[in-house]
Amino acid sequence: MQRDHEVIIVGGGMVGAALAARLGHAGANVGLVEYGDKPDAPRGEFDLRISSLNARSLAFIEAGGTRIPPDRSCVFRHIEGWNQSGSGHSVFSAEDSGLDNFGRFVENRALRYALWQQLEQLPGVTCYTRCAPTSTLAGQDSRLLELDNGKTLSAALVVGADGARSTLRELAGIEVNTYDYRQRALITNVETELPQQDVSWQCFTPTGPLAMLPLPGHHASLIWYDRDMTTRTREMLSDEALARAIEAAFPARLGNLLRVTGRASFPIKRQHARRYIGKRLALIGDAAHVVHPLAGQGLNIGLHDADALAELILARRDAGAPGLLRRFEVRRRLANQAMLTATDGFHHLFTGAPPLRRLGDCGLHAAERLPAAKRMMSRQANGLNPFSRP
Ligand SMILES: Cc1cc2nc3c(=O)[nH]c(=O)nc-3n(C[C@H](O)[C@H](O)[C@H](O)COP(=O)(O)OP(=O)(O)OC[C@H]3O[C@@H](n4cnc5c(N)ncnc54)[C@H](O)[C@@H]3O)c2cc1C
Repeated sequence: MQRDHEVIIVGGGMVGAALAARLGHAGANVGLVEYGDKPDAPRGEFDLRISSLNARSLAFIEAGGTRIPPDRSCVFRHIEGWNQSGSGHSVFSAEDSGLDNFGRFVENRALRYALWQQLEQLPGVTCYTRCAPTSTLAGQDSRLLELDNGKTLSAALVVGADGARSTLRELAGIEVNTYDYRQRALITNVETELPQQDVSWQCFTPTGPLAMLPLPGHHASLIWYDRDMTTRTREMLSDEALARAIEAAFPARLGNLLRVTGRASFPIKRQHARRYIGKRLALIGDAAHVVHPLAGQGLNIGLHDADALAELILARRDAGAPGLLRRFEVRRRLANQAMLTATDGFHHLFTGAPPLRRLGDCGLHAAERLPAAKRMMSRQANGLNPFSRP
């Protein structure tokens, strides 16, 4: 059977590009279809989109031959959470879980650029930019993909990594369940008087958490979750007024702000595809699931999907075999559903009615006093086996 590629990936975001790099690095023949241009090198101020990458995600990216850019990322070793209106307070330290660190905060565009740089080195990977699929059809041995530039490509498997509004998912007729949290996240990058440390913290308030993600040097990314209208109003403030609002709302430990270097806001939704697979088709990353970002796990679970799919593909001859796809769905759906449920639970515990919030407070207390539970939670959040000993 003559096919253009073994695997075609639609969407060259971080998840799709990481899968292409992992498969291409192992010698597979991969086509990557991306709607936009190939990414430019990051320079100047940090971009607003920053993600935490845990141990499993970092290992997967490195297994594809990509090096995380050290100057645009930052290691973190502690995670601290507390309830603004209660007494619950918990600190998670990597060393308590037998780890050197919890992972890295990485600028999304720097990671994406590094992945695409690696793709250019891989002879088995062909990138098709500035095009998108218009239709797709599955046959016995391959799936065809028609593109809006007139090209038709074929592969044993077509993977949808084209984000939350996935065209491939729509073309395949896969429906999604969605839930609107009626929250909006205001992300600001700031320069602070104090250098930020290797700790990321989150303060829970009844209208949504306030989070600080450290960046190299005196930089930090702040996420301020709140009601939709409140966030939109805040986003309109002048730099000076926004800096004062941040100083008033965020915990004093943030220190004085020297300046706000960027801002943007995003609606917060949960979304889960009713199935991840079709005939010679699989969905990964945000195309399959969108979780509340409060636990910083959306990209991580997307990369874990890519990791699981790559492992199955590289171990078999037919990348689109029905048995392989069923195994992928079983492996990932349960893990992703658990993450969706856990982040949902966190959201409702800290923004729900007062009795629920007291329960959240007790949860933080309990986590602080039960080292074994804490260790398991840390390992789980890192994509590691929660039951193994450090
Ligand atoms: C406020 C906020 C904070 C977050 N923080 C974290 C965090 O700390 N840690 C974490 O793990 N996650 C975090 N996330 C989630 C994370 O950003 C996403 O899960 C992740 O970016 C999804 O990556 P993706 O590659 O699946 O999709 P995307 O990043 O959406 O990439 C999709 C790609 O497909 C391309 N594309 C789209 N349509 C087509 C088409 N029709 N044809 C071809 N190409 C197409 C796009 O151009 C893009 O390149 C956060 C999310 C938000 C909103």
